[in-house]
Order: sequence, then structure tokens, then C-alpha cells
Amino acid sequence: MHDVVIVGAGPVGLFLACELGLAGCSVLVLEREPEPGAPWRTAPLGRRGLFAASVAAFHRRGLLEPLLAEAGPAFGAAEDDDPARPRFAGHFAGIMLDGADVDLAALPLRLPGSVPDAVMTSLDTVEAVLSERAAKLGVEIRRGVAVDGLTQDDERVVVRAGAREYPARWAVGCDGGRSAVRRLAGFEFAGTEPQFTGYVALATIPDVEKLNPGFTPTPRGVYLRMAADGHIGVMDFDGGAFDRSQEVTREHLQEVLRRVSGTDVTLTEVHLASSYTDRAMQATTYRRGRVLLAGDAAHIVSPLGGQGLNTGIGDAVNLGWKLAATLRGQAPDGLLDTYTRERHPVGAWALGWTRAQVAAMRPDPHAQAVQGVLRDLLRTRNGTTYVFEKLSGMSARHDLGDDRPLVGRVAPDFRPADGTTLADLMRDGRGVVLDFSADHHLRASAAAWESELRYAAGTAENDLGLGAVLVRPDGVVAWAGEHVPDRGSFERAARRWFGDASV
Ligand SMILES: Cc1cc2nc3c(=O)[nH]c(=O)nc-3n(C[C@H](O)[C@H](O)[C@H](O)COP(=O)(O)OP(=O)(O)OC[C@H]3O[C@@H](n4cnc5c(N)ncnc54)[C@H](O)[C@@H]3O)c2cc1C
Repeated sequence: MHDVVIVGAGPVGLFLACELGLAGCSVLVLEREPEPGAPWRTAPLGRRGLFAASVAAFHRRGLLEPLLAEAGPAFGAAEDDDPARPRFAGHFAGIMLDGADVDLAALPLRLPGSVPDAVMTSLDTVEAVLSERAAKLGVEIRRGVAVDGLTQDDERVVVRAGAREYPARWAVGCDGGRSAVRRLAGFEFAGTEPQFTGYVALATIPDVEKLNPGFTPTPRGVYLRMAADGHIGVMDFDGGAFDRSQEVTREHLQEVLRRVSGTDVTLTEVHLASSYTDRAMQATTYRRGRVLLAGDAAHIVSPLGGQGLNTGIGDAVNLGWKLAATLRGQAPDGLLDTYTRERHPVGAWALGWTRAQVAAMRPDPHAQAVQGVLRDLLRTRNGTTYVFEKLSGMSARHDLGDDRPLVGRVAPDFRPADGTTLADLMRDGRGVVLDFSADHHLRASAAAWESELRYAAGTAENDLGLGAVLVRPDGVVAWAGEHVPDRGSFERAARRWFGDASV
């Protein structure tokens, strides 16, 4: 019997497996696909953008280097002379952002660091990096196992695949948008039905110059010609009518592309094609008994604005340490329930973010008028900065009952004067106390939570005017103190997240 069975070895399941493995839990991952690296998970179709909060999550565990080694083309359209400026290009409703227009002065909680604000990678790269790490941490990954049954009682969960049974104390469904775990465990999944069918494909297109580069809205939909040869996308506002169990044929794709683009462009061959929709749905809770959901199993959004994977990584990071503490019997009361409480609003935001884009991309005069207003707004520094901050994930804030602006957000990568960074201090998966106070005021208090918290004292390159911060293992600031930090207030925060002192 394992501590945790994770269903799905996608990026979210594997990230969670690494977090649990790091915390010493026994983890079994069950994956339906017999082999990794399916063609649509490799670049260019499998290309995915990771934004700042996810980049920080990989960085904290020392996983950013291998990811960058395999990264795709630099993420960012604009460069200027300022190395602290984000080289960044996301989009909103197909309107590209220019990193040079981000007003850094308006982001006082962002500390420019050595890591990029966004990384262009691919699903297979993320999965390879995480699988290797998981194996080193003793996680067992079994492939070719399609889960089709699940029962639970007060003591355990039994996950089934055909006649095989996999008992565990907890199970987590990371098995994607059509999650079997979600269905088998009786989660409610609620949201909105699609307005369009989207297609992504790799094709041979001899007259590709008939298509504009980038996103092109037309009176009939939107098409997209990406940088890689033959990599195209189309959004056909058919109300999601295309039967997605069908193969996307060359004839069908050419007909849709011609109709939407208003050209007579020719696809002589389609090498790879898949379809998606903008159905936006979310599980009403992420936990039922001993079964939890994370990633696309918990929420599905259209790919617009690249939030699906980023939201899923955030789920895994948030859940890992809480589930591990629960398994060790060290979790303070209700810790695991903060997973839904904190992550459900973030998922709901992602649904809204993509719905807003769909509303602005519809091929009707009202939506096109909204699109015009958005274009104007995104030509302003304020508009670009607003979207940049939202996309980055760094502005998402859990309500932890403390008004200080940093509390509840992902911590910026503080740089203690000894040359380390906060991320360096977080590799072992413990929380961190950064004590910037002159007399190392919290040293004795923090020592009482030594097995859960790493203590680091000293000045920092920029302490954002704070005397100390308590950072949870998921990188979220749980507490912040003044120049002479209040020990009682720190100890209450430490007890709230880590339980009674262990020494
Ligand atoms: C065209 C496109 C572009 C996108 N671009 C971005 C982007 O730039 N940024 C971004 O953040 N997101 C993007 N997304 C969304 C992103 O790909 C998903 O949100 C992400 O892959 C979800 O990860 P996951 O691990 O939750 O699920 P998946 O990646 O779906 O992995 C689930 C795993 O579970 C396995 N599985 C399923 N059922 C079972 C079963 N019954 N038993 C065992 N195993 C099972 C599957 O084989 C799979 O390996 C994009 C999506 C699309 C379609």
C-alpha cells in the first residue's frame, strides 16, 4: 500500500509526485500511455509557455536549469538595453504584448532576478525533466495502466485498472480534462459550454504566404500562423459542434481554414492535427474524502492566454506539502482543506480570463468593437503592465487574513547578502524564514520548527522594507514582519501552517 497513488503522468501529476517524493512519501504514478513523448506533446504542437509563478516553482526545486537547457526559442518579442526588463510576449485575445511596455515601477513587489519571467518549453521536456527527478526521489511510475475504477472508505482508496488493484492512503487525479478519477469519485464539474472548436496542426502549406503571421481575426473566426513551418491554428465559432472523437482530416481542416481565413490556401498534407474547445469547467471542490484533483482534472480552459498548465503546476505545488504533512500526521487542523480554499479561486480566475478573451474574439460586430478597445488599451503601458502581471501568476493572492500586500502571494526571489537566493534555500522542500533584522530576532523562535523551516539571517539586496518573511514550502508568503519582527506574531503564523513546534 502506497501513501499516494497519482493517476496521470502529465506535468501536473509528475510535479506533484516530485513534491511528495521530496517529502519522503511513497508514491505510485499510474499512466495510461505506454510510452512518453507522444508527437503532439513534443514541439511545436506540444510547445507550452510557463509564466513567472511556474518558473519560480521549478527554480525553487533546482529544476529550472534542465528545463532551460531544452527550452524553445526565447520567450519575448521585444528587447531593449535594460537587462532587468522582462523579455516577454504573451497575448490577450490574440493581441500581442510588448515586454518593453511593462512598467516595472508599477510592480514594486517584483524583484528582477537571474531567471526569466517566462520560459517557452514543451510538454515532453517538462515530463522528461520531472520523470528523471521523480525516479531519483524513489517515485514509481507504471505506464500502460488505464485507471477505470476507484472506491474509498475512511482508511484508504483503492484505484483499479482492469483486474489490478492499487491501494493507497490517498489518491490524486491528475488525469487531464476528461479525468476518470473525477467521474469515478463523483466530483461535480460545472461551467460553460463551448463557443468554438479550435484546431492546431502541422501541415505542408505551399502557399503559406496567403496567411498572415500571428493571430488574425476575421469576420468568420480567428486563424493563427506560428513561427514554425506549417504550424497553424484555427478557431471556428461553430458552438463546439465538431465531433472531437473524429479524426481531423486534411479536407476538413482545409475547408475550415479557407472559410475562416477567407483565402484559398492549400494544405497538401496534414502531419499532425488535434482539436480542442473553449469549454470552461471546474470541479466544485478539489477534494472528496481521500481523493483529490489537480491540473486539468480539476479545471479546463481554452488554451487562450496559456493558463491551463500554469494553473495546474500551481495546484501541484500547493497540494504537495500539505498532503505530505497530513500523511506524516503533523498537519495542523484543516490544512488539507486550504488546498481547495486557495486553489479553487485561482482556477475560477483562469476560467474567467479565457472566457473574456473568447468574448472579445467572437466574429460579430460587438465583439470586434470590444477587440478594438482592447487593442487601444494594450498599446498603453498601464494596459500592458496589467496583463503582464495577471499572466505571470505573481499577482494571484490567497486571502490569508493579513492585509500586508506580500502575504498570500508567491514570494519574490529575495537575495540574501551572502550570495544565495530564496530559491536556493528552498531546494529541500522545507519552508524558509528570512530574518533581515539587525539582531536576528527570530533565530530562537524559528529553531523550534527546525524540521519544517529553514532559518536564514542577514541583510538582503532588497528586503522590500520588511524585517522578516515566513515562506511556506510552496513559495507563498505566509507572514511578514516589521523591522523588529514580532516573535509572538511569527510563532502564531508558524503554528498555523506547521503545527506545534517539533523541538
Ligand atoms: C493547443 C494547446 C496549447 C496550450 N498552451 C498552453 C500554454 O502555453 N500554457 C499553459 O499553461 N497551458 C497550455 N495549454 C494547456 C495545457 O497543455 C494543459 O493545461 C496541461 O497539459 C494540463 O496538464 P495535466 O498534467 O493536468 O494534464 P495532461 O497534460 O492532460 O496529462 C494527463 C495525463 O493523464 C493520463 N491519463 C488520462 N486518463 C488516464 C487514466 N484513466 N489512467 C491513467 N492515466 C490517464 C494522460 O495520458 C496524460 O498523460 C495548452 C493546451 C492546448 C490544447
